[in-house]
Amino acid sequence: MGYDNDNIFAKILRGEIPNFTVYEDDETLAFMDIMPRSPGHVLVIPKTPARNMLDASAAQLAACLATVQKVARAQMQAFDADGITTQQYNEDAGGQEVFHLHYHTMPRHAGVAMGPPGNMGDMDEIAANAARIRAAL
Ligand code: 5GP
Repeated sequence: MGYDNDNIFAKILRGEIPNFTVYEDDETLAFMDIMPRSPGHVLVIPKTPARNMLDASAAQLAACLATVQKVARAQMQAFDADGITTQQYNEDAGGQEVFHLHYHTMPRHAGVAMGPPGNMGDMDEIAANAARIRAAL
């Protein structure tokens, strides 16, 4: 179980597939999930290959978490959120579907359940939410 250079996030990193970027630095990219489980759902990935947490370096994990924190603080402000849910899955059995290490960061409001996975979002709404996060960063 190695790293597949043709996974969808590798293609995003190579610019072969468009994305709504909210933040990037030398080590990480943060962009909108196109099937958001809450409005403002963001994915954070390392720019270098790692299948998931199990093969990632400590430096990749640290860089991703620093970006998750930045984005989460911006999401709190941009959506007047009450909290943030961060998720990270490893391998099929762990719920992973895209095999490039990624962290989900989702704004949450008290009493509002997360939506189900796998529902394509409205692209105009996702673009608008990306702009709100970028403005808060
Ligand atoms: P996981 O591997 O954590 O279970 O799920 C992968 C995540 O990637 C899902 O939340 C899914 O909505 C998201 N996703 C799948 N394909 C794309 C894509 O082409 N672009 C973006 N931005 N997100 C995607």
